[in-house]
Amino acid sequence: MKPFNPILSEYGTTIFTVMSALASEHGAINLGQGFPDRDGPEDIRRIAADTSMDGPNQYPPMMGIPALRQAVAAHNKRFYDLNVDWQSQVMVTSGATEAIAACLFGLIEPGDEVVAIEPTYDCYLPILRRAGAIPKLVRVAPPDWKLPLDELAAAFSHKTKLIMINSPMNPASKVFHEEELAFIAGLLEKYDAYAICDEVYEHMVYDGRRHIPLMTLPGMAERCLRIGSAGKTFSMTGWKVGYTTGPAALIGAAAKAHQFLTFTTPPNLQAAVAYGLGKEDAYFASLGSDMEAKRDRLANGLADIGFEIMPSEGTYFLTADFQAIANRTGFNGDDAAFCKHITTEAGVAAVPFSAFYQGGSDSGVNHFIRFCYCKEDALLDAAVAKLADFFGTK
Ligand code: PMP
Ligand code: GLN
Repeated sequence: MKPFNPILSEYGTTIFTVMSALASEHGAINLGQGFPDRDGPEDIRRIAADTSMDGPNQYPPMMGIPALRQAVAAHNKRFYDLNVDWQSQVMVTSGATEAIAACLFGLIEPGDEVVAIEPTYDCYLPILRRAGAIPKLVRVAPPDWKLPLDELAAAFSHKTKLIMINSPMNPASKVFHEEELAFIAGLLEKYDAYAICDEVYEHMVYDGRRHIPLMTLPGMAERCLRIGSAGKTFSMTGWKVGYTTGPAALIGAAAKAHQFLTFTTPPNLQAAVAYGLGKEDAYFASLGSDMEAKRDRLANGLADIGFEIMPSEGTYFLTADFQAIANRTGFNGDDAAFCKHITTEAGVAAVPFSAFYQGGSDSGVNHFIRFCYCKEDALLDAAVAKLADFFGTK
């Protein structure tokens, strides 16, 4: 057989699929892959169902139905005071994943450098490398996930085409604050670079924090592509409706890729998301407050067992250090082995943190695991009870 693409074939199956399959094989509670166990608002689903029955069901416009593009522009104005022209500055995609791919394929020339911050969300490195970019990686590390400004500056050069910023950040659950964003903005201006801003968890920030899109900083509206996801904002991760906002030139470049990747996105889901983005402020506020309570519930339960819990400022996830439990129980495997161990033996699945680093288990990061808390309280309690039965409490 002739060889396949060498970049993609060196990657295994994504960790989310691996851990979900293991959880299902062993009947374990799945706190691995990030998805809520309760579907989003019924009124939104009703519009998707009705639109599917009433039509239209043929190809929607390549950039997205006007109602959704208008709703995305209005959402940007309502939450961030951004003035967005819905016709030239918004593109609808089949999920944020497609948006990330379209932005990278549309902007990257082979040999360009792309700055990314580890831990990176799983699709960034494979896609940017497949697009021909050379990753320049900078790490944020627990427990404080502080951005190392000197290292970030050193990662930039005149070959830098763009930076990937994920805030709130999966899996570190860090929310970038204004000083960090201002520093990044300075680098983008200095090196004439762009930013792909993955902000799918924009409404899930906690403890009174505020999500600040990089795009809202002075001069940044011209350099940023800001990506959102209906899957996260409406708790229906299977819907795969994403939306990107940016200056017309950058949106145009990304659209050149989008038109050949998927071209468009199911019209009934677009209509429903257009409606959803107009929901009352209380809907968006409760997304964050509900999730914050779940974070505390799971964090407290895990801490009682002996996990060391890292701060989770946003997203669906928290990171736990299992070193103390390993020492107490004589477990001496790495994070992947620990996740397998608790899935098969304790009946609770999580995701090994090293999966989010180049080099995986050779990355030097091997005693952290990621738990997902966007679940019913009873399920979180059941997961904690299973782990407590298995490991005992501190
Ligand atoms: N970016 C991040 C940081 C994510 O966690 C996810 C998770 N789903 C995505 C992008 C992809 O979003 P979508 O399902 O809309 O493709
Ligand atoms: N974003 C989800 C997570 O981080 C998973 C998405 C997927 O399975 N591709 O768990």
